[in-house]
Amino acid sequence: MDLNQINTYLPLIAAPSYVVVLVVLLSRRLPRGNQTRWFLLFLAVSLIWELILFFTQNNIFIPVVLLGTLFIGKTTEAYSGRVIPRHWFIIGLIITTLLILATLTLTLLPTNTSSPLLLDITKILSASTWLFSVFLMLKTLWQAYQTVRLPLHANRLLHWAVFLTLTLLGEVLLLNNQPLSALIGQIIRFLGVLGLTRAISSHRLFDVQTRFRHILAFTIIALTAAIPATLVLLLTIWITNQLALEQLSTYGALLIVIALGFLLYQPFRQIIERIIYRFLLGEEFQTSKVVRSYSQAISRTLDVEQLTLVIIGTISELMETNRGALLLVSQVDNMLEIEPIPAMGRIPRRTMRFPTNSLFIEKLASERSWLLQYDLDFSPDHATLPGEEQTWLHELGIEVYVPVHTGTELSGIIALGPKSSGLAYRSNELELVQILADQTVIALQNARLYSELNHQNEQIRLLNANLRKQNERLGIMDKVKSDFITIASHELRTPLTQVKGYADILAAMNEESSLTREQTREIVGHINRASNRLEGLISAMLDVSQLEASGMQLSFVQTRLDTIIRLAVEPIATAVRERRLKLALPDLRDFPPIYADFKRLVQAFNNLIGNAIKYTPDLGSITITASILPSANQGPEYVEIVVGDTGIGIDPRYHDLIFEKFFRIGNPELHSSGTTKFKGAGPGLGLHIAKGVIEAHSGRIWVESEGEDEVRLSGSRFHVILPINPPAIKHKVNDLQQGK
Ligand code: ADP
Repeated sequence: MDLNQINTYLPLIAAPSYVVVLVVLLSRRLPRGNQTRWFLLFLAVSLIWELILFFTQNNIFIPVVLLGTLFIGKTTEAYSGRVIPRHWFIIGLIITTLLILATLTLTLLPTNTSSPLLLDITKILSASTWLFSVFLMLKTLWQAYQTVRLPLHANRLLHWAVFLTLTLLGEVLLLNNQPLSALIGQIIRFLGVLGLTRAISSHRLFDVQTRFRHILAFTIIALTAAIPATLVLLLTIWITNQLALEQLSTYGALLIVIALGFLLYQPFRQIIERIIYRFLLGEEFQTSKVVRSYSQAISRTLDVEQLTLVIIGTISELMETNRGALLLVSQVDNMLEIEPIPAMGRIPRRTMRFPTNSLFIEKLASERSWLLQYDLDFSPDHATLPGEEQTWLHELGIEVYVPVHTGTELSGIIALGPKSSGLAYRSNELELVQILADQTVIALQNARLYSELNHQNEQIRLLNANLRKQNERLGIMDKVKSDFITIASHELRTPLTQVKGYADILAAMNEESSLTREQTREIVGHINRASNRLEGLISAMLDVSQLEASGMQLSFVQTRLDTIIRLAVEPIATAVRERRLKLALPDLRDFPPIYADFKRLVQAFNNLIGNAIKYTPDLGSITITASILPSANQGPEYVEIVVGDTGIGIDPRYHDLIFEKFFRIGNPELHSSGTTKFKGAGPGLGLHIAKGVIEAHSGRIWVESEGEDEVRLSGSRFHVILPINPPAIKHKVNDLQQGK
């Protein structure tokens, strides 16, 4: 049987082979995506083409090949996960249809009427469309290859590229019309298609790069190992030529050369092998030595972060990776929480919760063996991993997860990024990492206990600090309590003594009948002021007791902020003038009306402004500012009023305490008397009442001050935030607005 005959019947073998491939592919549980559908179409076209080839024995039906190329192009697009602009496929399809029609017409026409020129044009158009499609496919694959980060993902594309090239090469050879090339073409194309079928039907593919390096290593070793043999041969020839054969010494020399050759061959080959393998495939490691030094290193570490560095550091030195983390696994509310502790590379620390039956967890927990990100991405078993879990895993950029089990539980995962060589992990390497992971269990357990202990220690330290603070506060409050008697008696006695004193004077002068009208008015004035102060004090005390008993009772009305501030400032206007203070008021005309207890707010602001006057030396300034704070939906919701002064300021230690009742900074005895004098005494109730009023409006009050300093006078700023419609009456306002 000559080549031509073989070529005639070859399609008859090829066609059923494609049918077998088709059937096998259809009978398998196929992976996701469009790739399978397009590939089946490609196989169908290949089958048709083989039949045409058999029946016509002519390659005129090249456009059918083109159709197959378009389909394999679509398969490549789906397989690589990249997008080739749709219009190229449509244009290709139109050209192919036209070419098929043209070829059909030319074939059916009687030979004498068919134009060879038209035939040539069809061929040229077919060839250029084919070339362009091939270019697009390879370009897409190259782009996809450049974007993948993990070696096994890259290998998948490489595998596809190799077999796609083989298939296309086969097509070129087949169409060459030479018997030998057609024969080789058929075989190569079929091998290519088999490789592509494997890639479509399974995600377990051989490692192209490693396989290639093995072949290269074998070739180099075989060629270099031939050097000693060649030398022996050359020497033998030389010796035979130089010396007469009869001489005994000649045989001796030959024997020595051959023996030397044999002796040297083996070590020479071993050296070459070692060098080539180390260079092309990386160094082999001695497991027992690695395990011993690893165990020693991790047993010395008690801190989880440190342990992670040791684990990943040791492994990365062996495997040459520059990305890795330890994922700590802990049970939280029936879920497994995974917290990455990065050691190398930029790995996000975001924790993630997985259900205990998550495929990712189950695989690691039940199979107790490593898991590849590649398997998670391409194995049909993992297609159901939820999107959030998938994204989290992708963000880690890890290639292999190796479980660390404590008893039956998964307590950690050693996560390794791709090797810097770009090669995938070999199974013996992964086995070693698994052994190391098993060695890690105790160290990890200890480190976790230790960090738990540390955490608790820290917690206790914080609690202690808090306790100390509370103690300090209690101490101060205790002092406040004992000061209360001093303050109350002093504050009550001062006006009372005045009333009594003036009343006595009045009585004595009256006895002597020496009282003028003028004197009477003056003395009564003094008595009035003292009793007013007494009244104020008692009413403040009553307010505090009301606050304590039932909270502040408010009656809300619609009111304006400018009126409140104006009325709060009015009683102290004289003091401002006398003390030559500068008082700046805000322009509140554009402010919306607020719902509030008008009288109480006036009282609260009066207390704040009164304090500003009391604790600011003469010639200082008091500034009141206001702003509207928008709510989440942009409408005005709160107003903020700030009462600032250039006074003595308040030590941050007392920023909370000054709002407690009867609390006053410093020695109560040292305060001067008088409600508006610099550092004038007060009962320590003003801020407590102000806070009660503001909070009853669902507002907030706090102070900002760098600290007490009578020289620098950095001052204080009291912030008050008030809702425009306090929640207490909000529903009423809504009802009003809706006309209910
Ligand atoms: P008092 O009646 O003593 O003013 P408050 O409750 O109004 O009582 O204030 C409590 C303490 O807070 C005051 O004794 C004072 O030490 C401090 N304080 C209040 N406002 C100011 C301010 N603007 N600047 C400095 N210290 C202030």
